[in-house]
Amino acid sequence: MSDVEKSTKNMLASIPSVNEVLQQDAVAELLEKYPRPIVVDAVRSVLADVRRSMLEGHRIVPPVQEIEQKVRLMVESRTQRSLRRVINATGVVLHTGLGRAVMSKQAAEAVADVLRGHCNLEIDPETGRRGSRDVHIADLLSEITGAESGTAVNNNAASVMLILNTIADGKEVIVSRGELIEIGGSFRMPDVIKKSGAVLREVGTTNKTHLYDYETAICENTGAILKVHQSNYRMIGFTEQVALAELVELGKQYNLPVIEDLGSGALVDTRAYGLSAEPMVQESVRVGADLVCFSGDKLLGGPQAGIIVGKRHYVQAIKRNPLFRVLRCSKMVYAALEATLRLYLDQNFAAEHVPPIKIIARTPDSIRADCEFVLKSLSPEAKERFNPQITAGESEVGGGSLPGERLPTHLLTLHPQNTSADELAKKLRLCEPPIYGRVSKEMVLLDFRTVLEGEAPEVAAVLNRLASEP
Ligand SMILES: *Cc1c(COP(=O)(O)O)cnc(C)c1O
Repeated sequence: MSDVEKSTKNMLASIPSVNEVLQQDAVAELLEKYPRPIVVDAVRSVLADVRRSMLEGHRIVPPVQEIEQKVRLMVESRTQRSLRRVINATGVVLHTGLGRAVMSKQAAEAVADVLRGHCNLEIDPETGRRGSRDVHIADLLSEITGAESGTAVNNNAASVMLILNTIADGKEVIVSRGELIEIGGSFRMPDVIKKSGAVLREVGTTNKTHLYDYETAICENTGAILKVHQSNYRMIGFTEQVALAELVELGKQYNLPVIEDLGSGALVDTRAYGLSAEPMVQESVRVGADLVCFSGDKLLGGPQAGIIVGKRHYVQAIKRNPLFRVLRCSKMVYAALEATLRLYLDQNFAAEHVPPIKIIARTPDSIRADCEFVLKSLSPEAKERFNPQITAGESEVGGGSLPGERLPTHLLTLHPQNTSADELAKKLRLCEPPIYGRVSKEMVLLDFRTVLEGEAPEVAAVLNRLASEP
């Protein structure tokens, strides 16, 4: 054996064993958090790497802290959850791909609280008997919207289906042709109506529907009149739809329930934020719709849910429908929904605490300040690699609300040096935390309107880290 071979052999012998590494405090801590086979496997592969680099001529065994650190990183990367927080720099406030509405701190705390242990989801504290989970939201819904009663199901698509199945199964439901919309995720009004068991009776034309179109369609088999908010598209020019108030009158005259699907709906007046009016739930209730439904995770800023409010006997009938049990929400949703609704007991408080409203209300100046902060925090390498610049741009609301409306914003534009904009955008999506931006004309655009409080430093750190990699 040559001298070199001898010394290599000695060095290999001085590499710690798997068991030795497992007994280090830092690794023992990992064993408490993660399944043992994953930790053991990571120790084995890190030690195998050390051995390989010795055989390739590396002369020093790395210190045990370095081995521990590598094991920790490997365990963390192998156990990383698939579903996790990301930074939304797309400028789309309600981005379905990024989980729609950001929820309030209050909602997050309520969810954490009920998950800490058991909770009083369906029990009456007075009698100790089984109760209804709706007690947590029904009074709030009445107080905020003015409706007699309310409930919630899995999402607003479910609300529409459940309402129609309850009150118009086997009967005709009259809808204007201009309101037979498709929303993302293959929600098509005609298909949902069909699945509900109701029979669609289309009236009017694409651009114009008159009150007499509804009236002449009424027959002995009519079950309901349905008005649908056009949500994600706008009709302009020679157009006409019948106002809810007129449909309510017609409904009264013929003793037919009038339902309104508001889509997003809003509990605050969006005109206060320089946007056009998104229909308000309170208004539909006041005008006299028998049932109104809207989403929990659009402008409301709560959890995914479909909220139904309206006349008490209709809400009760809905809750007796076996489909209600099929479509019911979990305790996490009730906790988040109750906490979200509580914010709306005061309009000003809601404007200060409901994230989508706060994000919409942000001024271009405050957004610019975030861009400047990130620009100032970038390393010289990052500036050279990404060529960052601050420019004015436009954000959008998304989530099928307020289509075509643009909110003035500021963007950090990145013009990468050695790689394409698509490639950089992908790298950003795969970072920790992941950052989602837009790509346009060989640039990555980061819109800071939707980058939340405390996230700007994270964006800077990610860019600096990327720039330091070869
Ligand atoms: C968004 C929307 C729905 C579906 O609501 P989800 O909560 O996404 O299920 C239904 N109707 C209208 C008009 C909508 O805009």
